[in-house]
Amino acid sequence: MEHSAPISWSNRPDDLSTTAGYDLIRCPASGVHNAIITSADILGVKVHYYHGRTRPHLNEFCPACDDRNPWRWRGYLSACHPKSLNSVALEITAPCVNALDDYLKHWGSLRGAVIMLWRPSHQPNGRISCRVEQSRFPVEQLPAAIDLEALLLKLWEIQPHMTAPELKQVMAAMHTKKNRIPNSNPKQIGTNGH
Ligand SMILES: [Zn+2]
Repeated sequence: MEHSAPISWSNRPDDLSTTAGYDLIRCPASGVHNAIITSADILGVKVHYYHGRTRPHLNEFCPACDDRNPWRWRGYLSACHPKSLNSVALEITAPCVNALDDYLKHWGSLRGAVIMLWRPSHQPNGRISCRVEQSRFPVEQLPAAIDLEALLLKLWEIQPHMTAPELKQVMAAMHTKKNRIPNSNPKQIGTNGH
């Protein structure tokens, strides 16, 4: 069924509304961030840090590419706090992937693994180190994985059915907004992107 893009028609209650309230966690500058992974694998995406915000690279009509802004890869994991089991989304960088892949090769799924993320340089944008280990927590008692794609679209203020030219318009409009997120913010960022 074709939908008219700017209006979010759906046959069932919108998945996007269920992602409200989850935090996107970036590795802190100091200390170690521990979490239990609840997704089976990484969801990766090319993004730009452009006009003060992290935005997705677009395969067509990408305004950031037009401006020669380089894209970079970011990975996302659904995870939960080891004690409260509250769900969060974790952002990882390319150097984290090897440790996750080693675990995946051995165990077939990331769900249930403990992930430890830290920045050896203690700099907000320093390279992230990552360690992945088996947890003792029963996997069947973990919360369901977050729909990461829906969460990211909501964070980026993008409707799932938007066409490439419409996305370009949205990206262009975002650049004029004042409520920008500094990329160096080592703490949490609310799902509304503010
Ligand atoms: Zn691009």
